[in-house]
Amino acid sequence: MVKLPNLNAAEPIPDSAMAEVDRILRTGDLFRYSSDQSPVSLLEAEFSSALGSKYALAVSSCSAALFLSLKALDLPRDAKVLLPAFTFAAVPSAVVHADCIPVLCECGDDYRIDLVDFENKLPGCSAVIISHMRGHTSDMDAIMAMCDAADVAVIEDAAHSLGTTWAGRNIGTIGKVGCFSFQSYKMLNAGEGGIMITDDENLIARAVIMSGAYEHNWQRHPVLHEAVAKWQNQLPLYNQRLNTMSAALIRPQLDALARRVEAGRRNHDHVADILNNSPNIFVPQPLPKERRAPDSIQFNLVNMSDEQVDGFVKEAGAHGLKVQVFGRSQDNARAFWNWQFLGDNPDLPKTRAMLDRACDVRLPARLELQECNAIAQVLLKAAESTVCVEAG
Ligand SMILES: *Cc1c(COP(=O)(O)O)cnc(C)c1O
Repeated sequence: MVKLPNLNAAEPIPDSAMAEVDRILRTGDLFRYSSDQSPVSLLEAEFSSALGSKYALAVSSCSAALFLSLKALDLPRDAKVLLPAFTFAAVPSAVVHADCIPVLCECGDDYRIDLVDFENKLPGCSAVIISHMRGHTSDMDAIMAMCDAADVAVIEDAAHSLGTTWAGRNIGTIGKVGCFSFQSYKMLNAGEGGIMITDDENLIARAVIMSGAYEHNWQRHPVLHEAVAKWQNQLPLYNQRLNTMSAALIRPQLDALARRVEAGRRNHDHVADILNNSPNIFVPQPLPKERRAPDSIQFNLVNMSDEQVDGFVKEAGAHGLKVQVFGRSQDNARAFWNWQFLGDNPDLPKTRAMLDRACDVRLPARLELQECNAIAQVLLKAAESTVCVEAG
């Protein structure tokens, strides 16, 4: 049997980053506004052109991009922002940081936004963050139709969706603004970092200033200068810039993106096909208009008690495979009841039921199919033995 790979190990940064890193180390040129041809500006140009959007602004994290997007929308204090209850704690945190109030909407057992609950909660909300959690795309046609009709701006949290398309369009370009992450567990790895893309010149102008383009540094951005000049000295500077070293690490990885997306999808679909043979495991299908770019797999345990779910996790762990059930690992940052900083919120029984059965396993693009087989076999056997013990 093939040995299980280390699922937490990252892919090496391409050798082609070396010369640029060396140059940066020698010049000490770490600040994005210290030159006109900063790697950060080049990254912005390359990223927006790759995704097909007019403007990009690189920042210190996806959370910073979400925060700046909300600020750039110029929402009043205490504006309500609708977002899915299945997301990462940093997302409602960005809403709180922007002096807005998160409103959580239910998600179904396919990890996607429950459209009935979404429609019910949309009235009274001033903005929406669509968190494509773990790269699962919600029905963007239905969501955009509802939000356009209500004249509510959509921010796409595409942190885990780089390379995903919906009806042929890149995720992150469907809403008014799309936010991505360069944190180590995402498709492009700089350790930390983020970027926002938009076609809206006023929104990018405001975000550029607030990200920390103090004095006339905004002139180094290829954005319409009248739009930015208007905001000079009018907005706070939150200083969430990206440094040049991070950009130098990301730029050569852009060339590897198409390969990573293909390999990630191949690995995911291969494991999904095997797991769906188990009567106790269900891997939801992508939506028809969605072409995914996964680097992990999520599946639901079915017909199992809480004890059996915990037994399954233990059994897989005993074979060297780390499985997390979002709702059953202590203090999980993706379980909404752990976001106690939000104060009292109504329960969300549908999302809770999903989180109590939904498993999360990393499945990096660099894995070979043989390694994917080994992972799938551990999961199948763990399900089988967990259910058998109980029956016997
Ligand atoms: C990782 C992630 C974030 C946060 O990204 P940072 O760059 O770490 O701030 C937000 N949303 C989703 C869906 C993520 O996967």
